[in-house]
Amino acid sequence: MPGKTRPCERCKTMIPPERIEAVPETRLCVQCSQTVGGEFELRVTPENLAKTGSLKKNYGSWTIEKRRKRPRPEAGN
Ligand SMILES: [Zn+2]
Repeated sequence: MPGKTRPCERCKTMIPPERIEAVPETRLCVQCSQTVGGEFELRVTPENLAKTGSLKKNYGSWTIEKRRKRPRPEAGN
């Protein structure tokens, strides 16, 4: 169902509906998500460009790759 979108809570850019469709819990756009490093790392690619893999899910004509970022090692100490 297209048209479901909302602004990113950080930069107010509209989050692509495909991203929300795949990750309803997200509050950030892809860019901010990667910048803050706190959310999932997402890769959204058109299906015809993506290889089929066991770790990927297909949503309509998009392939969403979703994986958790590794926790960062603590600095200092
Ligand atoms: Zn953003």
